[in-house]
Amino acid sequence: RQAEIESAPLEPGALADGTPVALLANVGKPADAQVALDHGAEGVGLFRTEFLFLDRDEAPSAEQQVADYTALLAPFAGKKVVARVLDAGADKPLSFLNDAEEANPALGMRGIRILREKEPLLRTQLEALRDAQAATGAELWVMAPMVADAADSEYFTGIARSVGLPVVGSMVELPSAAVVAEQVLRSSDFVSIGTNDLTQYALGADRVLGTVANYQDPWHPAVLRLISMVGAAGQQTGKPVGVCGEAAADPRLAVVLIGLGVTSLSMAPPALAGVRASLKQYTLEQAREIAQRVLQTASAEEARAAFAA
Ligand code: PEP
Ligand code: MG
Repeated sequence: RQAEIESAPLEPGALADGTPVALLANVGKPADAQVALDHGAEGVGLFRTEFLFLDRDEAPSAEQQVADYTALLAPFAGKKVVARVLDAGADKPLSFLNDAEEANPALGMRGIRILREKEPLLRTQLEALRDAQAATGAELWVMAPMVADAADSEYFTGIARSVGLPVVGSMVELPSAAVVAEQVLRSSDFVSIGTNDLTQYALGADRVLGTVANYQDPWHPAVLRLISMVGAAGQQTGKPVGVCGEAAADPRLAVVLIGLGVTSLSMAPPALAGVRASLKQYTLEQAREIAQRVLQTASAEEARAAFAA
């Protein structure tokens, strides 16, 4: 069965009734691009730009950024690439940005919170992404990490549009952003749910702490209810809602996410085949029924059992 899945033709993602579900890849460096395409990715749903900024004493120059982004975008000419601007802090500390000692770094300065204080850095990154897009013809979307509410998304969208980027979105990875997703979507062209952080913040369990790892489970109905709020806001506003956290890579949870109103899934390339095969087995109506059943449960364990019921 596994061999069958792995050798299946690389057709675009779709449900049993033909409803398209874009299957995208999470990438972090130019070398990942070919791997993503080899696994049949239809584009990139999360380009983690942090790789360029790691192990350095200062931010890379604008020229260096254009060169690196161009290398990553080039293989995706004509395809969508969602680039996330720098997500420094917490589990991704950068020496030249995260200098203050924080007792709770996941609750401190990270993502868009830092960029709002370092606007020239944000602007340079967005300009470099814009120039790389012009050089490659990839369909570039940009998004901000750690958006708390509409004020954060308005800020980011304003800067990104002033730089000339046409498609601007917000990540939903804080419960606050999920609850006010409709307001966030008013100033965003799309949202992408980061289920790794959304789970961490919903359950209040540090994602890098082994002692509380059992809480880091995106099947938890509290997490799924937050996602359903975002899915409903997407349907209300007619705007795309992606998932780019680990949850998208779970073949069964992927079906639940689509049933909750998610419209695209992005994951590590090796997970694409299993998710593609799983989605093909359910119609949109069935996915919605399953999602409603799972939402009514009281624990991650019950949610998993409800899927199969
Ligand atoms: C997430 O939080 O789910 C996500 C996709 O981003 P990262 O894992 O890079 O924080
Ligand atoms: Mg995150």
